[in-house]
This record gives sequence, C-alpha cells and structure tokens, in this order.
Amino acid sequence: MGIDFNFDEDEFRNAIGDKVEAAFIEYVETEVGNGELECDCGSTTFDVETWQNGNAGYEGAAICRECDERIALDLDTSDIDDIR
Ligand SMILES: [Zn+2]
Repeated sequence: MGIDFNFDEDEFRNAIGDKVEAAFIEYVETEVGNGELECDCGSTTFDVETWQNGNAGYEGAAICRECDERIALDLDTSDIDDIR
C-alpha cells in the first residue's frame, strides 16, 4: 500500500523558476523603491514597471516621479533560467 507520487522534475523546476522569478521582480521593485536608484534630477522616488519580453526574460523601467524620466533597468534573469 502507498501512494504513487509521480514526480515530474521538469514541472517542478518550472514551478520553482516561476517562484524565484516572482521573488526577483519583487526584490528589484523594493530595491528601486529604497533609493538604490537616483535620477539625473536628484530624485530617488520612482514608479517601477517590469514586464516579460519575448525571450521569457524580463525587462523593466523606473519612471521618475519628479520629472518622468524613464530609466531602463537591467534585469538579468539568466541565473534563474539555469534552474529550469
Ligand atoms: Zn527625475
């Protein structure tokens, strides 16, 4: 007697990858919001946008709340992709 648990490793890795990616995006948004980034105008308050690009990677931008300057964020998720 027992329960057969069919462990699908690919599915598991994908699930982990999704979690890590979500955590990464949250981290980026938090860091940018914590004054890690400074605009040319001296402001450190930004609205952060992140989105998935066509290659299953992420792109992001921070938009200055003072002058609307848009700063591209370098979101390297290649390490996360290695998990998958
Ligand atoms: Zn600015």
